[in-house]
Amino acid sequence: MKQYYIWTIGCQMNKADSDHVANYLERAGLTQTETADEADLVLLNSCVVREHAEVKVVNRLKSLKGLKKSRPDITIALTGCMVDSQIDDLKDRFPWVDLFFRPQQWEVLSKWGESHGLPSLNQEEDSVPRNPPVSAYVPIMHGCDSFCSYCVVPYRRGRVRSRDLEEIRCQVQNLVQRGTKEVVLLGQIVDAYGHDLPSKPDLADLLVSLDSVEGLLRIRFLTSHPSYMSRKLIRAIADLNKVCEHVSLPIQAGDNGVLEAMKRGYTTEEYGELVDDIRRTVPNVALSTDVIVGFPGETNEQFGKTMEVLRQTRFDKVHIAAYSPRPETGATRNLRDDIAPEQKETRRAQAEALQNAIAAEINTAFLGRTVEVLVEDQKKSKWYGRTRGDKLVFFAGRAALRGQLASVRIEKTSAFALQGTLE
Ligand code: SAM
Ligand code: SF4
Repeated sequence: MKQYYIWTIGCQMNKADSDHVANYLERAGLTQTETADEADLVLLNSCVVREHAEVKVVNRLKSLKGLKKSRPDITIALTGCMVDSQIDDLKDRFPWVDLFFRPQQWEVLSKWGESHGLPSLNQEEDSVPRNPPVSAYVPIMHGCDSFCSYCVVPYRRGRVRSRDLEEIRCQVQNLVQRGTKEVVLLGQIVDAYGHDLPSKPDLADLLVSLDSVEGLLRIRFLTSHPSYMSRKLIRAIADLNKVCEHVSLPIQAGDNGVLEAMKRGYTTEEYGELVDDIRRTVPNVALSTDVIVGFPGETNEQFGKTMEVLRQTRFDKVHIAAYSPRPETGATRNLRDDIAPEQKETRRAQAEALQNAIAAEINTAFLGRTVEVLVEDQKKSKWYGRTRGDKLVFFAGRAALRGQLASVRIEKTSAFALQGTLE
């Protein structure tokens, strides 16, 4: 067992899980390969949040059948949200896959490692790579209890489990000692962090604790749920120096009837009041959101209300998805997927065009301004990094800027990024 290959699709949580596996395998002495063909262990980390992603995973799995036939000694493994507690069906469909484990079911991976002469997986050690990225993902909780009617996540990632506050602080300290400058705290409802722990710490308490980690420059967190965003948390974003003015707050729909059918637990009015409160308390806050179009029964008028919310709120970033019925979910069980695929796509494209125009306008305001960029890395001779408001910035500059804060004067903007020169 010398080389491994990992393919990841889906959300930041999946990327964090893949990093965890990679850290373990590197510690065990394996090296990463560019393609599956050369590897002794091929791991696919799957996503089934939308059918489109699931189809990609299935195609990727099918493409590995020949590899397993020509090299039967290799291990092909599958993790991520495609793996539920009933793996018999998956075994029948993909008999060339040797190992299945649910998201974060590390004991199964560890047992496999031991049976192949590797050390066992160590949660603490393997959460910190030898050379971590400048901006590192840190999952602070797992699972979700919310059961939005369209969403498969609670069925695949299980109930909420928040991690111990001190354990998270320790991981962040270790990351910083090895070069990380920014942490992105991850949770499906990150603002509900700690509610399930005996001493009931909350996200604001965790932010206060991390704000004092020496050498750490920035803290972000995602994804927040409108029903859990407290005043205390909003104040913490405003008051703590290292916490970026950046809130990811999915609204999902701009119509109350649709929100109710989605079982989101808030109205558009409540969402609007929350946004006003955040904007009043945290000046220059960058807001991003997620929207689903074409939910069962969504009328043109209801879709129009979502467009109106985008127009009025002027988010910095919007992730727009066409509704995709998912097995097991309440919407699939109780509602008919009655919006035609072409109609969903038309609505998605309309919403995207509107949002691109808004983002382009918002970004134009940066022209001629100097922004502070945390430099993440270099791509094609350009440095890139992000502002506190999560704007991606490219600029040319001298060597060795990785991990540093750079002042960049913005000279060109688009809906997706800013470009400038180093001051
Ligand atoms: N926990 C976060 C929240 O409450 O919004 C997001 C998690 S979810 C995995 C990421 C995004 O995928 C959601 O915000 C939603 O917009 C989208 N999504 C989830 N299920 C979907 C479905 N069945 N069809 C289309 N989009 C979906
Ligand atoms: Fe899915 Fe809703 Fe949980 Fe987010 S809050 S993961 S959308 S069930």
